[in-house]
Parts: sequence; structure tokens; C-alpha cells
Amino acid sequence: MKNSFWWSAVVLALAVAAGCSPSPPPPKPKVAVIGLDGLSWTFLDPLIAAGQLPNFERLLDGAATGELESFRPTRSAILWTSVATGKTMEKHGITDFTFVDEGAMEEIEEVRLVTGMRRTAATIWEILGELGYSIGVVNWWVTHPATPVNGYLVSDRLKAVMNREAVVEEPDLVYPPMLLAELAPMFVSQTRAHRTMRTYDFPRYSRERAEAMYATSPASQNLYERLRSYVGQDRMVKDWSRHLLAKGQPDLFAAIMRITDVFAHFGYRFADRETLERMVPEITVRRLTHSDAAVRERTAALVEELNPVVANAMLPAYKYADDFIGEVLAAIDPSSIVIVVSDHGFAWAGGGYAHTQSRQGYPDAAPPGVIALKGPGISPIRIEGAGLFDIAPTILYALDEAVGRDMDGQALTAVFGGDGAAEARDVKFVATYGTGLRQREVADSPLTESEQEMLEDLRSLGYIR
Ligand SMILES: [Zn+2]
Repeated sequence: MKNSFWWSAVVLALAVAAGCSPSPPPPKPKVAVIGLDGLSWTFLDPLIAAGQLPNFERLLDGAATGELESFRPTRSAILWTSVATGKTMEKHGITDFTFVDEGAMEEIEEVRLVTGMRRTAATIWEILGELGYSIGVVNWWVTHPATPVNGYLVSDRLKAVMNREAVVEEPDLVYPPMLLAELAPMFVSQTRAHRTMRTYDFPRYSRERAEAMYATSPASQNLYERLRSYVGQDRMVKDWSRHLLAKGQPDLFAAIMRITDVFAHFGYRFADRETLERMVPEITVRRLTHSDAAVRERTAALVEELNPVVANAMLPAYKYADDFIGEVLAAIDPSSIVIVVSDHGFAWAGGGYAHTQSRQGYPDAAPPGVIALKGPGISPIRIEGAGLFDIAPTILYALDEAVGRDMDGQALTAVFGGDGAAEARDVKFVATYGTGLRQREVADSPLTESEQEMLEDLRSLGYIR
């Protein structure tokens, strides 16, 4: 309120100064950020072309779109914190999924999940909340424990409430804490997660076959259960977001789904088997770096041919994300600015698709993510050269707020040239928005059962050895 009052006063003053009668200021748009972990044009393009993703298609029609430059290490906890802060990991302090707690018990070094308490830069929801904007955040990476915001925040520890049918004691899961009782009837059990998997046609298999297909290492043995758990967590993201948006759209809504990343880590094995058997042996690691240009070219052409086939295997996860987009679009004001963003994509690497460097033959650069912006005043241009650090400055610019000089990205001003936009505004700056909320030290408590399970999940995806 304070904010819009200030804005009105400025516009009024300008109008009076210009000698014309004051007209009401243009209302500030609301912003909805839909984060889809690992969403990749590699799979998105062929599925949209095949008419499989109607909500993506609708959203991208008239949107500014492009590849979003990512960086290594392509670890989601790091990358999404850069999206939220506009800063490098050196500045925001989240340098991995985990950290080694050396102080817990003198000689015992314990690997622990990283928490928001270790973040050293203000997030976009903290910045805008301070400026008076209402906030809604759901499942953003590294947001546990849930800290106070000007609205609500559902942290990224949904795993902790999987399989619960009643209100549970998870005091740090959401802010405000009393929101938990309201969300409790929508906890997703393993049974409901399994039904969701069937609805979206995730590969059907017996448990034995699933484990045989998924297993790449001893740590991956229970990957079927893990996939079901991820589907359940994203089901909560979807159901809870729908519920919360139905109560009213905050000025900034931001949610992240993970299934588009998780399933892409191994789902390609469910691509058409005949095609895989025919093509994969020829697309070897060495061929992508072969000294003979003709061999490299042939290999690249084969990868181009393989991508749509593998995209079909990704359809369950992409369809799920597509439905989420449809639900968000249906729930928000049509004059909102919608931003779809992913932290990295996937690319062919040594026998499969990956974004990490653990695979031999990994491409030199981190596979780019996806950026798409749509809303009043946004032109449907091709965005070139955008990166993860640009998202937070762009949101600030879209709301005519100052960008932090200590942010490492730039506002994507080029997209704001469409109908209804005033002539390009200058970017305003402020020195810094500071370090954000860190109210408590990291708890010195033993790992909970769900924390242990989450560490296992990270091991199964190859992030922890
Ligand atoms: Zn990711």
C-alpha cells in the first residue's frame, strides 16, 4: 500500500508539472514466476511441435523466449538461489546441496542438507516484501526453514510431509506456521502419488522391472520409490498452489516444480527401445569430440534425430508441468507478467542425457535453461544472451523498482517494448538490498528421518558420492 501510494504521488507530481490533468497511474502488474527445474528446449520444442503441451503452447504464443545461460556446477540449490538473488554463488553463499558440519560433535564431520540460514544475499521475495508487495512462494530451493515474508512461504521440504494424512509437527515447513493446518488435508500420500503416476502415464512396470531399469548404481536401487516421492511432492506444489492462488493472487507468486529435472535424469531409458538400440551405439562419447569434422557432424545430426524420440519418453513429466502452467494461468489475473524459467537444460552426454559433469563426454558448457516472459508491454522477441542472474533484476525493473548494483545480472529491458509500454524506462539502481533474513544459526540437531531420505535422494541422482 505504502508503495502504490508513493507511486501515485510521483505520477501525480509529474502530471501536474507537465501541466496536464492528472490521470490515474497505470496499475503495477502482478508477477508469477513458474520455475521448472531442468526444463529443456531439447524436449520442449519437439513436444510442443507435436501438440502435446497445449498450455506451454498458449503461454509461449506472444511471449519473449530464449535460452537461459546456466553455469557450473549445475546444481539446482546453487542455480535457483542465483535466480532468486541475481547473484553468484560466491555472493549468495549457497555452494552445494549440502555442507559438511564440522562443529556438530567435535570429531564427527556430518554431511547436512544446506538450509536458507546459510544464504548471504536477499531474495527477490524478501526485497519486494520489504517494499510492500505481497508475496507467495512455494517450494523454492533452499527455503527451509521457512522465514517470515510479507505473505506466505511453503519451503522446499515437502518430502517431510509425504505420506501424512493429518496435521504434523513441522514448524519450519511453512510461513506462517498456522498455514500448515490449512494445507494438511492436501498432503499427498504414496498411494495418491502412485495414482498420479498412472494418470500421467509414467512408465508402467512391476517394481522389479522398475528397479532393473532405473538402477545405475547401488544408490539407485529404490529409484522407483524415489520417483513416486518426487511426483507426490510436485502434486503438493500443484494442489497447494491452486488452493493458495484461489484465495487471492499475491503481487509476487513464485513456485518450483522438480519433476522435469528428476525424470530427465533417467527417463530417457524409456524411450523407444528400438531407436535407442539403433542409434545410441553410434552416438558415442568420442564421436562428439572426434577429430574428423564429418564424424562430429554426423553425430550431431543423430542427436538431433534422437531428441524428439527421447522427448516422447519425457512426456509424463512435461505433461505434468504443462498442467501446472494451465492451472496457474487459470488462477491469475490475465494482466499479470508470467515468467517461466529453468535453471539448466539437458544435453546428450556419454550414453544418456545429463546436465552434470559426472558423465564422460559432457559438453563444454552447462546446457542452457529456458526463459519465457509474457504480459502487458512485453514484446514477443527472441531473447539473446540472458542468464540466471538476470531474472531478479528483470522482475524489479518490471515493477519499476531499483536494481541492486551488487547484483550480477541485468534487467532484460529489451523485452519491455510492446504495446501498452511507456517508452523504455531507465533502469534505476540502489547500492544493495543487503543480506536478507538469517535469523537463526544452523541447528545443531541430529538428522531427521526425512533429511536422511533427502540425502539418499541426492545420492541416487549422483550429486553426493
Ligand atoms: Zn536443476
